[in-house]
Amino acid sequence: MRYFVKPIILVFFLLTACAPAEPDTVSLMIVNVSVINPVDGKTLRNKDVIISAGKISAIRPHSVKYTPDATILDGTGKFLVPGLIDGHVHTGTIAGLSFAQSEKYPELTKAYFAQQPRSFLYFGFTTVVDLNGNQESFDRFEKEEIHPDLFNCGQALILEDGYPAIFVPREVRQYVFPNQLYDPRIKNHTPGITQKRNTVKNAVQKVKDQGGICVKTFHEDGFAKSIWPVPTAEMLARIRAESTRQNLPLLIHANSYDSTRAAVIAGADAVAHGLWNWDQFADEKQLPRELMGILDQMIARNVAQMGSLQTIAGLRDLFDDSYLNRPQVATVLPPAYLDQLKRPQGRWYRDDLVNGYPTNMNDDDIVRRLDNVLSHGQQAQKYFYDRGGRVLFGSDTPSGPLATNIPGYNGYLELSRMADTGLSLPDILKSATITNARFFGLDKQYGTVEVGKLANLLLMSKNPLETIEAYDAIDQVILHGQVIDRTSLKAK
Ligand SMILES: [Zn+2]
Repeated sequence: MRYFVKPIILVFFLLTACAPAEPDTVSLMIVNVSVINPVDGKTLRNKDVIISAGKISAIRPHSVKYTPDATILDGTGKFLVPGLIDGHVHTGTIAGLSFAQSEKYPELTKAYFAQQPRSFLYFGFTTVVDLNGNQESFDRFEKEEIHPDLFNCGQALILEDGYPAIFVPREVRQYVFPNQLYDPRIKNHTPGITQKRNTVKNAVQKVKDQGGICVKTFHEDGFAKSIWPVPTAEMLARIRAESTRQNLPLLIHANSYDSTRAAVIAGADAVAHGLWNWDQFADEKQLPRELMGILDQMIARNVAQMGSLQTIAGLRDLFDDSYLNRPQVATVLPPAYLDQLKRPQGRWYRDDLVNGYPTNMNDDDIVRRLDNVLSHGQQAQKYFYDRGGRVLFGSDTPSGPLATNIPGYNGYLELSRMADTGLSLPDILKSATITNARFFGLDKQYGTVEVGKLANLLLMSKNPLETIEAYDAIDQVILHGQVIDRTSLKAK
């Protein structure tokens, strides 16, 4: 037997030694390009990136030897980065139409959702993570011919009578939020919610069974004053324990001093949202010591922060009448849909928001208040970042059905906002690629331009390490090795 084995091994070695430098399945060569590594912010110049079967198969010094039949993409003077990962989207929420409007205009709703995946791609988001969606919206998204890779946290764990369940009438809550948690503190339970069935254990199991890669829950007691019930420390501890048991990272929605503290005590892996609601310190101009203390604790315990400042900036943009006329908006929203938003009825969300403020506040007062909240969020993000906090990228697109949180463009604005806050350009790129990939356990396939990883790439005409505008200067989006001209992704 031994005599037979040896020649076979020898033949195997000879074959490998003689194997061509690249597989003959090469489908795409991006030649003479500057490849940016988001891990260390270094650039490898004059490289050829070889793509086979949707993956990166080689990266080597530029040569003029091209594989026959392969598509050649000239990268001369251009920059290649991994596709961006938006860690906080909602594929089922329509940005701009109320529930009644989307029922009234089914063709507009259809056009919006058909364009949505293309809009994310248009601004370079080749991967998105839906933090609270449903199977129907995931299926609709993935049914489109081209779409970013979609991951999700399944249905978020929501307290019955808690945020955001309270926005939906009780009769239909079970349908909209199928993963509600029984709250022993209330008397009248939501129909269908039982102590036996709606446990933390079952809820996390459901996320896992449906293919979720993370667990999301909420700690939100009210946007202006404390009015909604929040999970107790015991409930959060149980959610933490079950998430750990299922090996899923836990994201807790929190944006105030109290809620961020609760998330840190609970041992969240990430706080979804920035610390912009300063509670009793709301009138302070500079970041108070107490808040610094919470941010220090987040850093010490390696709790990541997903700033999502567009949540606030989007509300503020409702008062910017030029928003809908910006050229980028027309690239990502279908024309008929955009026309609808420009009609008087398109202002419904702004009207609702204004009605929520005291009557003695006019639009200017509201804008001033929102600007103040945004500045607070930016100060907290800067403090956290300057001290080495782990910053995740998530735009919360859309944070609600508002017209100023539109797919793709909102992510671009979030990147720009981070630059305004004072994060360095290399760190912004890192956050939206490898940091997110690692956090969600996707880094084997995503997050860098590396041999063996998926060929989800962006070819840019500007350098993202030098200007934030590079994210709006994408020439081609490469999705699983397929080259897509950015202009072809425009809304029609
Ligand atoms: Zn969200």
